[in-house]
Amino acid sequence: MSLDTAPPWEDVHNYVGGDWQEPSEEGQAIVNPATDEEVSYVGFSSEEDVDAAVKAGQEAFEQWSSTPVEDRIQPLFNFKQLLEEHQDELATILVKEHGKTMGEARGELRRGIENVEVACGIPTMMQGGHLPNAAPSIDETAVRKPLGVFTAITPFNFPGMIPLWFLPYAVATGNAFILKPSEQDPVVAQRMFELIDEAGFPDGVVQLINGSVDTVNTLLDHDGIQGASFVGSTPVAKTIYERAAANGKRVQAQGGAKNHVIVAESADLDFAAKKTVSSACACGGERCLANDVVVVDESIYDEFVDRVVEEAKSQTVGYGLDEGTDIGALITPEHESRVREMIESGIDQGAELLLDGRDIEVEGYENGNFLAPTVFGNVDTDMTIVREEIFGPVLGLLPVANIDEAIDVMNRSDFGNAASLFTSSGADARKVRHQADVGNLGVNAGTAAPMAFFHFGGRKDSFFGDLHAQGEDMIHFYTDKQIYIERWPDA
Ligand code: NAD
Repeated sequence: MSLDTAPPWEDVHNYVGGDWQEPSEEGQAIVNPATDEEVSYVGFSSEEDVDAAVKAGQEAFEQWSSTPVEDRIQPLFNFKQLLEEHQDELATILVKEHGKTMGEARGELRRGIENVEVACGIPTMMQGGHLPNAAPSIDETAVRKPLGVFTAITPFNFPGMIPLWFLPYAVATGNAFILKPSEQDPVVAQRMFELIDEAGFPDGVVQLINGSVDTVNTLLDHDGIQGASFVGSTPVAKTIYERAAANGKRVQAQGGAKNHVIVAESADLDFAAKKTVSSACACGGERCLANDVVVVDESIYDEFVDRVVEEAKSQTVGYGLDEGTDIGALITPEHESRVREMIESGIDQGAELLLDGRDIEVEGYENGNFLAPTVFGNVDTDMTIVREEIFGPVLGLLPVANIDEAIDVMNRSDFGNAASLFTSSGADARKVRHQADVGNLGVNAGTAAPMAFFHFGGRKDSFFGDLHAQGEDMIHFYTDKQIYIERWPDA
């Protein structure tokens, strides 16, 4: 069954056992962050709703786990094709409920589709190992087996991509999967599930459950769930990790971030300024890979500051569907107020306000949650804007004497999601590569986003668990390694 997603959208539905269902409990409105118009409504799922999905998943798992692997990947190939055919329609929905630009929405969907492509390689990726003559007359074999029903709880900032860090791998390995998307922008997930419905997965293999905190807790406490993936803020990631582990489940929980970019003396300053502003401000700064603490060698500090301010000034803030928009709207008025408070804290704590984006008005969208790029100079490591995640288009420049001091500043952070270095010195690059305490590191790359065939890193308060999202780590997370030991003494 297909729902009409042309505006005005119907309410968001659950997809359980191959059917669309209304979540049982009251939920919240979905509001376009640029226009302040209500675009949809999402109800929240009760314990009974969750239980029905888990049971449908368990039922589906019995057949699906023993379905030949070649047959398991056919619906994924269909899904990839459908995602590509509907990419612009999905991107439009995403812009309307999230606020980012059309280009960013298309890009995020492309990164999601890459994960579907990688998971189609499961016949090779899932193979185990075999060793003849492991001991006298004994051969040993390791196989990977799916485990049952998994869930993923995902954040608002990449509602089209992040579900695909998990879903394709979970089902390709033979598991059943339940997505609980962010309640702030769940419409794009619903449209993806309409495509899933077309792609030919057996009922119950892939399911969608909407809700908020209570729904998540019900999923984490349910005996029928084998494991949980989480992406979101650090305090919630910690809670999820502890609760799922206490319930004996596999768990991987990626949290928030505070990322640094180091600009060394030998860097190409024009290129570095362009990439630095884009890293900090793209998607309105609502990215876990945003590098917003800019650690600059003091010998080029003044020159670099000028270029960053010029680049930041050149950004066009507006509605994501309008041509020429570089930076869209922030997710909610509450989040916009929080970012404004962070800017206030920077001023109060003595940072130099070089560019103030607070007065922005976007003609025709007076009720939107807009902020223009805001640049601080001479920040230090005690300031809130340097220690805490801002999640808005705000960056701070911090002068240092040399590369060693830059590494020290970066590694003092509680977070370890990502960092970038701009340099033309191999020695700088090697030093940073060896010493950086971060999970994703870019050299002369502004945003260290790994391709789908590599895992998405993260350390310290940015990640709780051991196996990460994407790529080979997902195969390990979604399977159990069983050993066969065979002795045939007469052979
Ligand atoms: P969030 O933590 O508020 O919500 C994430 C998910 O958790 C949502 O589905 C929400 O319904 C659920 N949730 C919220 N509070 C909960 C609670 N108390 N108990 C159980 N479930 C709860 O995060 P967000 O605001 O949607 O997303 C932004 C955050 O995600 C940022 O901190 C960002 O850095 C982080 N993020 C991290 C990565 C990464 O790879 N490390 C990627 C993207 C986003």
